[in-house]
Amino acid sequence: MGDEGRPRAEALFERARQVIPGGVNSPVRAFGSVGGSPYFVRSGSGAYVTDEDGNVYLDYVQSWGASILGHAHPPVTAALRRAVELGTSYGAPTAGEVLLAEAISRAVPGCEQVRLVSSGTEATMTAIRLARGVTGRSRIVKFAGCYHGHSDGLLAAGGSGVATLGLPGSAGVPPALVAEALVGPYNAVPEIGEDVACVIVEPVAANMGLVPPAEGYLGRLRAECDRAGALLVFDEVITGFRVTRGSIAGLVGVQPDIWTFGKVIGGGLPLAALGSSREIMEHLAPTGPVYQAGTLSGNPLATAAGLAVLDELDGAAYDRLAATVACLAEGLRAAVESAGLPVQVPVYRTLFGLFFTDSPVTDYEGAQRAAQSGIYAPFFQAMLRRGIALAPSPYEVAFCSMAHSERDVERTVAAAGEAAAEVTAQR
Ligand SMILES: *Cc1c(COP(=O)(O)O)cnc(C)c1O
Repeated sequence: MGDEGRPRAEALFERARQVIPGGVNSPVRAFGSVGGSPYFVRSGSGAYVTDEDGNVYLDYVQSWGASILGHAHPPVTAALRRAVELGTSYGAPTAGEVLLAEAISRAVPGCEQVRLVSSGTEATMTAIRLARGVTGRSRIVKFAGCYHGHSDGLLAAGGSGVATLGLPGSAGVPPALVAEALVGPYNAVPEIGEDVACVIVEPVAANMGLVPPAEGYLGRLRAECDRAGALLVFDEVITGFRVTRGSIAGLVGVQPDIWTFGKVIGGGLPLAALGSSREIMEHLAPTGPVYQAGTLSGNPLATAAGLAVLDELDGAAYDRLAATVACLAEGLRAAVESAGLPVQVPVYRTLFGLFFTDSPVTDYEGAQRAAQSGIYAPFFQAMLRRGIALAPSPYEVAFCSMAHSERDVERTVAAAGEAAAEVTAQR
């Protein structure tokens, strides 16, 4: 099914464009880099979503990673039902906030305190402010192709939608702010000056496709931060609680000073967090001078969903997800390759990406070269016609949920073989 199989979506998108810029509330959803117009989701169940036209898609978007158990997972839905009966927001502390903060802190050694916020953007923005407040320095270092949300100072050479739209950053950001952010290539350790408050990094980059850290990279970054007296921030809004129960720190043996989490920990509701040692976190208001607040922070529905999700995530669950992803990645690689297309399918445990190129991608330049092959868009459309929904951009990773079955993997691999053959035939 192509756009022609989606008359209701076409009509909705037309109306949307009248009242919402570009018809969407987050740019990549507009299908700008893959062409055509988006499907409008009516409902989701497990690994699948159903659109307003009644088409069913095997979903590898999964709310950009916010959904790890699959859509409308019954225990999560039940927890939300119980919570909603009690009221939706009070502006006073609730037990759910304490329980979720305790659960995150228990899962992440060294993350003694957390502050709950409503989006990953808020979490990283606050992490930067906190690092500046703690060190009394103003510069930050980030890496090209890493995305840390859309706050002014963090958009320079961002991945995700910034990359999809080919923007150098964003209009409307004061040059003075951009000048405070030094941008280096991912997987290279920059020399850090003593005016740098923090280095922020996705410990496994997942917003320029999937680019795992080179062996020893994060450790060398840690050492350089220590030498310069800068803090190290792991932006784990994607990787946190998706790759393992908690942080990647334990896996790579490198401890950051500040973590940000989001996506998975909100169970599909608007919730994110930053965390650190008690000493650093108590620089935040009301115990310290670094201001941060939020009307809906720690929202009771969001904490109920987050807790219900974390409840289901033990080591065995991640092992199963990693096994599914390994199978899928190998199947996709073989299927696409045998159709004669150049392909790389990088995997980091439960995450995988798809680059149409001959050589492994280690940084943003490589990701851009792969995107320029122009293969992603027709491959995406050929998959969508077969009922498989990948991310509508070459700069995103694929999100597999725990609801994706062996049968789903087989279907995806079979579709990929056909889709790749179709793309080859058109070239
Ligand atoms: C999604 C994402 C963000 C931003 O989170 P939002 O909830 O979209 O504001 C920040 N950092 C990373 C690594 C992300 O993947």
